[in-house]
Amino acid sequence: MISITLDRCEIKENQEACESFVEAIDAMAQDIFSEPGISLSDAESRVFEGFRLIRQKFLELFLSHQANEEPSEPVDCPKCGQVCRRRYKRERRITTLCGVIRVERWVYGCAAGHYHVLWDDKQKLIGQWTHRVAEAMCRLAARLNFREAAEELSYQGIKVSHETLHQILDEMSAGVNIPEQVETQKLEENQRWYVRCDGCRTNSPDGWKEVQAGCVYRDYPLPPDSSGAISRARTTSIRYVASREGVSYFGKELSKLAINSGIYQEDIDTQEIVFLGDGAPWIWNIAKEDFPNAVQIVDHMHATSHLYNVAKVAFGETETEAIDTWIKETEPLLYDGNITAIASNIRALATQHPEVSEVLEREARYYEKHAKRPQYKAFREKGYQIGSGVIESACKHVVGQRCPQAAMRWKKPGINAVLKMRCLLKNGGWNKYWYPDAKAA
Ligand SMILES: [Zn+2]
Repeated sequence: MISITLDRCEIKENQEACESFVEAIDAMAQDIFSEPGISLSDAESRVFEGFRLIRQKFLELFLSHQANEEPSEPVDCPKCGQVCRRRYKRERRITTLCGVIRVERWVYGCAAGHYHVLWDDKQKLIGQWTHRVAEAMCRLAARLNFREAAEELSYQGIKVSHETLHQILDEMSAGVNIPEQVETQKLEENQRWYVRCDGCRTNSPDGWKEVQAGCVYRDYPLPPDSSGAISRARTTSIRYVASREGVSYFGKELSKLAINSGIYQEDIDTQEIVFLGDGAPWIWNIAKEDFPNAVQIVDHMHATSHLYNVAKVAFGETETEAIDTWIKETEPLLYDGNITAIASNIRALATQHPEVSEVLEREARYYEKHAKRPQYKAFREKGYQIGSGVIESACKHVVGQRCPQAAMRWKKPGINAVLKMRCLLKNGGWNKYWYPDAKAA
């Protein structure tokens, strides 16, 4: 019915153990084949569980063999340099992807009383967890909340409390450097760079706090169609950065991300850079400082929302007809970039509604301040993106889907750790961080 043979086992002294694996597989086969009507679900779970035990035992066998092979001659004490001799063996439990295993390792000691387990030092263990288990934990905790991630891990045979998960994520995120862990891209012909940022609200023990999120990408402008309409530019290879470390830290990270992604790495004069944001002053400070030659655009939706605000303040929220009429008159002026006309329209409203003139004057100044940024008609003619969709979806992907649930009250290190891991995943930098020495396939 089924035949499994063991021809050769490299680990001679473990011949017996290796044969026991074959026996275990054989027993499993007998068990299933002796029940021809077994359901798929039962067969699946018995095979899964059977091989889980074999995997676990096999890894334990191999690692115990390896740990036993540590040199019997003295080594230099890593702490004081004195002679450090092999003293005794001690068992330790390690949680691996194959389950919890026990490994006996040699403990070395020097005359100064320093003790070392050389085998452990080589394994990059994180407490009782292997590097791969820590990676699996961080991957899940980056995507799901800590409780859900702990549940999923438990389903895979890794028992961990959500508090420990939190700690491991914090610890492992310390070495993450988002701008360093991206691949450089090359700007192809007819492409341009985009840099965008925005603030997202997240909850903390002291109330709502802003997380800064940003992204860098290239577009492929499409030629106008037969009617002359300009097609929407496509977006490619988005790289993200997000943190609650403050605006000045974020600005530096965004600038480094842009440079490492490829901006400014070649001839600056041939690179077109478009910087988009809403009206927040910190955004435009970053644009001025780090992207001085970028075309600056206030996104269309944001600029339009200020027109709605003006109309609602002047006419009252319920006066929808008056609001619509005024918006219909003024919106084309915004699209054409006629800021002088918009400001004068708003000031005319302020004269008619002196009770709200202060707010209206502030709105008029908002448009004057961003005068060069909402030149939408001209921007569209050049094929620039003017909408807020890309950054809104960036905020949602990187921050929103994991962080802002009202019940989550994030402390700064916790949210920064999660954001780093999420950006790492989304930027394609995951393996570069977790396996920096791995050769590309
Ligand atoms: Zn020593």
